Amino acid sequence: MLASNVPTTLFMQAKTHTLLLHRFCSRLGLIAALLLALGANAQPNNWSEIKTPSSGPASAIGSPGNGCLAGAETLPEEGNGYVNIRRHRNRYYGHPELLRLIEDLGKTLGKSDALLMIGDLSQPRGGPMSSSHRSHQNGLDVDIWLPLATSAQAAQQAFPEGNNPPSLVSTDGTQIVSGWGKAQRLLLKTLAEDIRVDRLFINPAIKRTLCESEKENRNWLHKLRPWFGHDAHVHVRMKCPTSDKDCEAQAPLPAGNGCGSELAWWFSDEAKKPSKPTRPPKPPAIPPAACKALLHDH
Ligand SMILES: [Zn+2]
Repeated sequence: MLASNVPTTLFMQAKTHTLLLHRFCSRLGLIAALLLALGANAQPNNWSEIKTPSSGPASAIGSPGNGCLAGAETLPEEGNGYVNIRRHRNRYYGHPELLRLIEDLGKTLGKSDALLMIGDLSQPRGGPMSSSHRSHQNGLDVDIWLPLATSAQAAQQAFPEGNNPPSLVSTDGTQIVSGWGKAQRLLLKTLAEDIRVDRLFINPAIKRTLCESEKENRNWLHKLRPWFGHDAHVHVRMKCPTSDKDCEAQAPLPAGNGCGSELAWWFSDEAKKPSKPTRPPKPPAIPPAACKALLHDH
């Protein structure tokens, strides 16, 4: 009897331990969840949590890297000559002037079977994002992919989250290897010659290709700023609209077309192996006061 009770007792003990362990783990999970929630509250990304633009007149506030956007307009998922991809990110809000620019580009350059693919603009009220961009904060920035889409449906299916259009540039960053043609050149030229556009960020290899191929009018190359990445899309930045008094204009671009020593630097050993920063990192920028008000205006 006793002998037969031993395994039963052990089984009961083991069961009790398992139950206690299960409860302990559940509590641990609960505590972890609470800590995570507290952590999230300690450093909230409130700009991403806001789902609607503010009412009232549109105004780009602050700079693209430290700003926000009042009275944003919503870019439709599809328009004349363009399609907006990755709508689930909820970054399809912009200053009305940015939407007019996109619409004008679509009408001028897009075709029913060759649509411009529009990427991220800003969040409903701009502000910092949780991923992908440090700028795009004041409603004046937009990413436009360099490949064109044969249809809106094809674009949405071909490039879901995490699957970008292929890079146009070789892995060593020195030259264009595919995907470049008249349409891509025309897109960049049209944007650069638009008086509303302040600057365009593009891969150095793409700028170098244009510096070599443009023989007559090279003035428009001035607005093409070489930057890391940007090998399958161009980042478009508009000028501050004249009516937006809280918009901070960026420092003017250097004179000239930027095809000389400035561009050459991007292919130097120094550019490939950036030296470690000698200065301590800058403290986070203080958001403009008007942005704090906009964030809490529900
Ligand atoms: Zn961008």
